Amino acid sequence: MAAFTLCNCIVIAAMWVGHGGLDQLRSLAGLLTATGQLTGLYGAFAILVQLVLVARVPWIERRYGMPQLNVWHRWLGFSAILLLTTHAVTITIGYAISLGMSPWTQLVELVRSYPNMLGALVGFVLMVGVAVTSARAVRRAVSYETWWFIHLYAYLGIALAFAHQLSTGADFVADPLARVYWVGLYVLVAVLLIGFRWIQPFIAAVRRNLRVAEVTRESPDVISLEITGRGLDRLRCEAGQFFLLRFLTADRWWKAHPFSLSTAPDGRRLRFTIKTLGDDSAQLQAIAIGTRVAADGPYGTFTAARAEGRKVLLIAGGVGVTPIRALYEGLDRGRGETAVLYRARCRKDAVLSKELRELSDARSHQHVVSYSRPFGRRSRVDPLRPEWLEQWLPDLCDRAVYVCGPPSLIAAARSSLRSLGLPQGQIHSERFDY
Ligand SMILES: Cc1cc2nc3c(=O)[nH]c(=O)nc-3n(C[C@H](O)[C@H](O)[C@H](O)COP(=O)(O)OP(=O)(O)OC[C@H]3O[C@@H](n4cnc5c(N)ncnc54)[C@H](O)[C@@H]3O)c2cc1C
Repeated sequence: MAAFTLCNCIVIAAMWVGHGGLDQLRSLAGLLTATGQLTGLYGAFAILVQLVLVARVPWIERRYGMPQLNVWHRWLGFSAILLLTTHAVTITIGYAISLGMSPWTQLVELVRSYPNMLGALVGFVLMVGVAVTSARAVRRAVSYETWWFIHLYAYLGIALAFAHQLSTGADFVADPLARVYWVGLYVLVAVLLIGFRWIQPFIAAVRRNLRVAEVTRESPDVISLEITGRGLDRLRCEAGQFFLLRFLTADRWWKAHPFSLSTAPDGRRLRFTIKTLGDDSAQLQAIAIGTRVAADGPYGTFTAARAEGRKVLLIAGGVGVTPIRALYEGLDRGRGETAVLYRARCRKDAVLSKELRELSDARSHQHVVSYSRPFGRRSRVDPLRPEWLEQWLPDLCDRAVYVCGPPSLIAAARSSLRSLGLPQGQIHSERFDY
C-alpha cells in the first residue's frame, strides 16, 4: 500500500514536471500557480487513497485492520482538505497577479468562464462540510446516522471536483496519457469501493442465508444472538474479529453496525453479544428469531496471532468482554498460560462472566472479576493499578496483553502496563468506536 502510494506520488510529480510545471517558478505568480497545481493534484490523490482505505479490500483489511485504516482515512481526509484549500487559494491569487486583477474578481471570473468550475466550488464546499462534521467536537454532538448521511455528500463532491479536474486541469487538457492515468485511478477506486462494499457483501448474504437462530438475554440491556447459515465452516474468521451486521428488516437493512464475535467460531454458528448504546442497539434487543442478517467480514486484527506465542493477559471492561470471551476460548493454552481480568460496574453488568469462569476452571487459568461500583459506590480496589497487576502476575512483562473496553479503561491499562515496563508492541487494544 505504501509502495503503491509512493509510486503514484512520483508519477504525479513526473507528469507535472513533464507538463512544464518547473518553468513557472520564475515569478511569484508562477510560483503560486505551481503550488496550486501540485496541491490540487495531491489533494485529489489523497482523496482517492482515502477511499481505498475504507473500500474494505480484504488483503488491506487483514494487514492493517479496520480501526487503523479508519484513523488513516480520517487524517488523510483533513490533509486533503488542507491541500485543496491551498490549491483554490494559491491558483486564484497566482492567476490574479499574472492578470493584474483582484483575487475576488479573479475568483468570479474563474467560476464564470471555466467549464465545471462552479461544480468544483460546490464539491469543495461539500467536502469541507464533511470534514467539519468529522471534527471530534461536532462528531460527538451529532448522531452516527446524521454524520454518515452527511459523509455520503463527499462522493458527490468528489464527482464534481473530478469533472473540473478533467476539463480545466493543466495536467489533463493537453495530455491524453495523463487523462488515461487519472481516469484509470478513479475507475480503479470506484471498482474497489462498489465491489468490496456492496457487491461482495450482497453475494455473501444471498449465499450464506444467515438468520437469527437464538436470542439469549444476558442482562436488562444486553442480549446474545446466535446466527446460523450456510457455509459458515468455510468462513475464514478468528476469535477476536468483528463483523458489520445488517439486519434485513424493512426499517434497518441500510444500517450496518460493527459487533465482535463473543464465542470462538465453530463453523456452525456465529454468536454476538450486543449492549444497548443508542437507538439501533436498543431496537436490536427485541430482534425476532428468523430475521435475516447480512454479515460483512470478518474484520480486525485483534486475534491470537498477535501474541506471537507468548503467555497472555486478557483485560475486559464492560461489554468489551465480547472479543475477550471469544479470544479466551480460542486460545487453547496450557495451565497458567492465560489470565483474565474482567472489570464491570456491578455483578448485574458483568455479562458472560459465568462463561469466563467455566473456561478458567476447565483450564486452571487465573481469573478475576472486579466491580467498580459493587454496592452503588466506587470500590477502593482497582486491579488496573500497577502494584496490583505486578503482585497478581509477577511474569507480566513476558505476556502479550489484550485490552478491550471503554477508552478510559484502555488508557488506564496502557498507562499501568507501560509503567511496569511492558513494551508498547505487547499491548493490543480494541476500541468500540471509530
Ligand atoms: C470494532 C467494533 C466492535 C464492536 N463490538 C461490539 C460488541 O461486540 N458488542 C456491542 O454491544 N457493541 C460493540 N461495538 C459497538 C457497537 O457497534 C455500537 O454500540 C453500535 O454500533 C451503536 O449503534 P447505535 O445506533 O445503537 O448507537 P448510536 O448512538 O448511533 O452510536 C453510538 C456510538 O456507536 C458507534 N457506532 C454507531 N454506529 C456505528 C457504525 N455503524 N459503525 C461504527 N461505529 C458505530 C459510534 O461511535 C457512535 O458514536 C463495537 C464497535 C466496534 C467499532
